Amino acid sequence: MIQRYEYVKRAAKESELNSWQRVYTNRNLKLDTVTHMGFDMDHTLAVYHEKLEELAFKLSAKQLVKKYGYDKKILDFEYEYGGVIRGLVVDKVRGNIIKLDTYKYVEIAYHGDKRLTRDERKVVYAKPGESYRPDGDEYRYLDTLFCLPEAYLFLKMVSFIDETEGPREDYSSLAVDIRKSIDTIHRDGSLKKEISLNLNSYINKSKQLAKTLHHFIQGGKKLFLLTNSEYYFTDLVLTHLLTDELTEYSRWQDYFEIIVVSSRKPGFFLKDTEMESIKVDENGVKIPDDVAYKVYRGGYYSKIEELIGSNGENIIYFGDHTFGDILKSKQTCGWRTAMIIEELEKELKVIESHKEKNQKLSRMRGELYDLQEELHLYEEKIHNLRDRKIDCFDDLTKDELEKMDAKITESQDILSQLEVQLSETVWRIKSLEEELLQDYNPKWGCLFKSSRRKSRLGDQVEDFACVYTSSITNFYHYPTTKYFRISRDLMAHERYDSHSY
Ligand SMILES: [Mg+2]
Repeated sequence: MIQRYEYVKRAAKESELNSWQRVYTNRNLKLDTVTHMGFDMDHTLAVYHEKLEELAFKLSAKQLVKKYGYDKKILDFEYEYGGVIRGLVVDKVRGNIIKLDTYKYVEIAYHGDKRLTRDERKVVYAKPGESYRPDGDEYRYLDTLFCLPEAYLFLKMVSFIDETEGPREDYSSLAVDIRKSIDTIHRDGSLKKEISLNLNSYINKSKQLAKTLHHFIQGGKKLFLLTNSEYYFTDLVLTHLLTDELTEYSRWQDYFEIIVVSSRKPGFFLKDTEMESIKVDENGVKIPDDVAYKVYRGGYYSKIEELIGSNGENIIYFGDHTFGDILKSKQTCGWRTAMIIEELEKELKVIESHKEKNQKLSRMRGELYDLQEELHLYEEKIHNLRDRKIDCFDDLTKDELEKMDAKITESQDILSQLEVQLSETVWRIKSLEEELLQDYNPKWGCLFKSSRRKSRLGDQVEDFACVYTSSITNFYHYPTTKYFRISRDLMAHERYDSHSY
């Protein structure tokens, strides 16, 4: 049995943790006042190996050939990890995948494998006088890691169609076929069957998960599971991850007071639906009586609040889906939210590795700022000398005029040199910025940033999640009474320092 003193000892000081082990706060959260903790399963409790993306990609391509008659050559497509990232948007009609910033400006766009130039992007997405709003059925938002294989298959297929048949006016029928193919492999169980046969290959197991849940329970929290997965699959995955991990819990079900499967989030937070108690799983296998009493299918959030006898801010929900898990639980029920963003670990490691280069970048931006200042001074000087020459023309001697001309010429020469230096500095900054972006993702750059603004995803994380972190196991390092506080809001003048360029 893990003793209480051990529990206190392992709660580290935040300053001793690596950046990717920390929990980040958007809105103040007192864990002490939280009585119940809800958990999504897929990509929250269960961390899948990247190989799962490739499996879904390959199985969907097979469906496209078998069911919709696409060319067998597509079975040879290679899956590229990082070929698409979370937060992107599929423009189904134009056959493009785009990255948006917080103002919905399209920063990067690919048509198949081909990156659109700035001018090409402008023609499609930034028509004069129109503000671009990628909403509606024409677009698909990649809000979870499960969306990536589908989007990458779309990207590859658009290139393939362009090469073999020539460009289409509209690629939405392709998007529909791919969607149906993905649905099929999820519905007919072929994807899950493959996972179940190779659990160790597809699911990253960590002993820390059981310890983290135990840590919460020891802190007096009651846990519940709320997943869109079916019972049989949930049982398979969580048996693998939790059963027999700690002596206090012989089965994974022992960690949870309530287990809700096939919950149909975001519908679970939106529509009052029957919450059905189940005794057998989807394959007709009986659920043991001492577990079945707490297992439900479908339902509505208020039913779960009734069952656990708690509501609103006393509940925190851990999930990975910006819309289905985080936004709706926060908006509709007022639950507190913790978002799990696996990719954050890699992004933070890149940030750490960039420390020196970022300092260099900051210095160069400072130089650029100084150059611009100097340039404006000389522009002003030339302007004033010319004005004086015109205004005082009648009073000036030939000698004075010649002296003024010499001063103007001298200032113009300096101005030209400054212009050259300015261009060189801008170019050095751009090159270094691009070099840094390569380390995040060569095609799409940083997940949370779009040039110097926030990406759409970065904006959503900040807006929707009370706290966020790369793994649920990071909470193991924090006491269950932790007060997560936001950093002090700063105004522009307070942010002023040498790195503020
Ligand atoms: Mg999930």
